[in-house]
Amino acid sequence: MTDAAATLALIAEEVAHCTACPLCRTRTNAVPGEGPADAEILLIGEGPGQREDALGRPFVGPSGDLLEQWLAEIGLTREQVFIANVVKCRPPGNRDPEPSEIAACAQFLDRQIAALAPKLIATLGRHSMNKFFPGGKITKIHGIRGVKRVGQTVFLPLFHPAYVLRNMNAMPDAIADIRLVPRLIARLNQRLHEEAGQPSEPENDQPTPPHQTSMF
Ligand code: SF4
Repeated sequence: MTDAAATLALIAEEVAHCTACPLCRTRTNAVPGEGPADAEILLIGEGPGQREDALGRPFVGPSGDLLEQWLAEIGLTREQVFIANVVKCRPPGNRDPEPSEIAACAQFLDRQIAALAPKLIATLGRHSMNKFFPGGKITKIHGIRGVKRVGQTVFLPLFHPAYVLRNMNAMPDAIADIRLVPRLIARLNQRLHEEAGQPSEPENDQPTPPHQTSMF
């Protein structure tokens, strides 16, 4: 087992027994998150819903089905990405997590991010977005408009699948946003290559839109 895999397993074990906030009293199962320890992509949702709480797995049910469709758009399956949430236990009645609950749970997500060191973090929904894009409004910053790089990771704000299921007119934008993922990773790799002082190949044969020229 790699160091990252061992760290992720330890975090999952700690989450399963965590009593650091009141959500521990109403959960059926904690949902630490799942995926390969060498995943380049980390998707972060808000918190477990009823199905996730029952199964102890993130993004199952209709939102998970749609997320899998989005991943298929870029040739990926859910087994190739790491999927986590801002809070690991279900808020009763699917209410929003309280700021105190998000704060209590933050160390787990922060440690997952450190262990994974993903190339790309995609936020799904408001609470996840707020962690990395404070004050952002998803309808304004989703997709390319919100993309930013911090260190060796690119952050991409996406609509939450549950939101798109309720607002199907957002689907074309959601598909366009997920299709950015491979290009953003390619661009990051290119920049890291350049920063290491090595000549790099062009990102791909598609022209770079003007608003992306200063990206990264
Ligand atoms: S939501 Fe997070 S902090 Fe609260 S009990 Fe669950 S694992 Fe612990």
